[in-house]
Amino acid sequence: MSDYDQNNIFAKIIRGEIPSKKIYEDEKILAFEDISKAAPIHILVVPKGQFISFSDFVLKAGTDEVNNFFKKVAEIASNLGLDNSGYRLITNNGSDAGQTVFHFHVHILGKKKMSELL
Ligand code: 5GP
Repeated sequence: MSDYDQNNIFAKIIRGEIPSKKIYEDEKILAFEDISKAAPIHILVVPKGQFISFSDFVLKAGTDEVNNFFKKVAEIASNLGLDNSGYRLITNNGSDAGQTVFHFHVHILGKKKMSELL
């Protein structure tokens, strides 16, 4: 796997060099709207640390950080009012999965009936 690119688009968003519609932020995590929504609710959640992908994150981050990240994803989805209607989480890991931004992120998709897996 190649090295983390400090100038990927999400790194710039985290540093505030590129604007985003933030919906949650703390010391470790940022959540913002996807620029090209695939559903009425389409949020990206990223850890602020330099992790390329899902596998990079779970292998390199500490257990507490991984646990905290996924709990926050659930909290954010809940705060978006998605608990009853449901939502889909997607994380594309690598090129075959279609990952285009190489800073680990989870997509939260909601308020759309999704039946097909892909
Ligand atoms: P991936 O394909 O890597 O799983 O997802 C990358 C996502 O980032 C895509 O859904 C794309 O629409 C989104 N994206 C790309 N550039 C920007 C940007 O500049 N701002 C925001 N908010 N989202 C972006």
